[in-house]
Amino acid sequence: MTATPERYARSIADLTRSKKTLAGGVSSNVRLGDKPFPLFFDRGLGSHLWDVDGNEYIDYVLGRGPLLLGHTPKEVVQATVDQLWRGQIYAAQHELEYELSERVSRIIPCADLVRFGISGSEAVHGALRLARAATGRQTVLKFEGQYHGWLDNILYSLSPDPTRAGHALHPATLAESSGQFSGADSHVVVLPWNNIEVLSQYLEQHHNEIAAIITEPVMCNTAVIPPLPGYLEAMRDLCTQHGVVLIFDEVITGFRLSLAGAQGRFNIKPDLTIFGKAIANGMPISCLAGREQFMGLIAQGKVGHGGTYNSLPAAVAGAIATLDLLEKDGAAVYDTLETTGQSLMQGIRNLTAKHDIQAVIQGYGAIFYLGFPVQGANLPVGQAITDYRSSLAMDNDLYTIFVSAMVDRGVRIIPRGNWFLSSAHNQADVESTLKAIEEVFAEVIASKV
Ligand code: PMP
Repeated sequence: MTATPERYARSIADLTRSKKTLAGGVSSNVRLGDKPFPLFFDRGLGSHLWDVDGNEYIDYVLGRGPLLLGHTPKEVVQATVDQLWRGQIYAAQHELEYELSERVSRIIPCADLVRFGISGSEAVHGALRLARAATGRQTVLKFEGQYHGWLDNILYSLSPDPTRAGHALHPATLAESSGQFSGADSHVVVLPWNNIEVLSQYLEQHHNEIAAIITEPVMCNTAVIPPLPGYLEAMRDLCTQHGVVLIFDEVITGFRLSLAGAQGRFNIKPDLTIFGKAIANGMPISCLAGREQFMGLIAQGKVGHGGTYNSLPAAVAGAIATLDLLEKDGAAVYDTLETTGQSLMQGIRNLTAKHDIQAVIQGYGAIFYLGFPVQGANLPVGQAITDYRSSLAMDNDLYTIFVSAMVDRGVRIIPRGNWFLSSAHNQADVESTLKAIEEVFAEVIASKV
């Protein structure tokens, strides 16, 4: 389970106990893959987190994205708690709701109308339903290596086995889970990302069947791949030309890559968009937003959208407090994030050069990717990963060893290679992290590459 069981004695006992009644000992399958094993945590503050054995970590997982301001920022916690004492749920309208929708609509250019839910997965579900209703077409186009939640009609080809995934330019639509509704796959088309020729040719022939293109505007779920210059613009033009609804899934990039998300950073207006995670810094809320032409179908009651906990008052209060902090001082927080993240990325680059370790480091200050190529991949120095198939040149087993060794040294990262930054991370965190990386490179990694 781990090379240092004494360090995690209480977590090991907790996992053994919880497995008896909690399926797998975890509440999300993603956590099954945590290294060295699913640890138990006790508290978080700022950029740091403590496990039940009292070990302290610099946290680059941050709830897998929500904690853009770090753990438990006092303004967000206070606003949430204050609202809880005024009532947990009304199952009716409250005034904070429109305060938040007005804020989102002002910040996000495509957000004429907004609806709130709890999870990103259900907001994606709503967007796909809207696109089908608006176009009368059935099929959705997604990209290999992207994730849009765990629901049946879109859980395809996140990390497909390359031996079954078909031609790189025309991948198969592969279910990620056993038990997924069979038949849904005939209405999902998978294409490689960052290839405008393939997309353009496909739409030329099939646009009459395609209701929507759904995309992460930066491919955060595989290697934090940035869009190639002009790619998103061309996708936007193709959707307009062919009457296809363009959906930006900004569950990770939203409020992280800029105040107005990736769409703000790249200045592109999708038709529909989804936010979750960072919008409320850890409180459960998601947001489906878009042009009136589409969202109006929900407003008119033609397209169904519901949920007992939608617009949960405490979560809405948490979101408003979060946006207050993100917008403060001309959104200065984004400069801090970029500076801290870039300094960490540069520090890692320097260490890979010093220890002669091949690595790919790409992304942005607020979220970046680190991975080691498999031996013999012979990537030219500085080579970027541009799509799912090029991410297969990375050595996941070696990265897993790296992750466990980092966690052992008090730096918490996830095996997928994504590093999340928060405005609570500072230069001291960067220095301590680089010290741990240098140790792991020298003691663990250098002998294996
Ligand atoms: N879309 C993207 C891009 C995501 O990364 C995720 C979750 N990581 C989701 C949708 C699903 O969101 P949730 O886990 O809140 O259902």
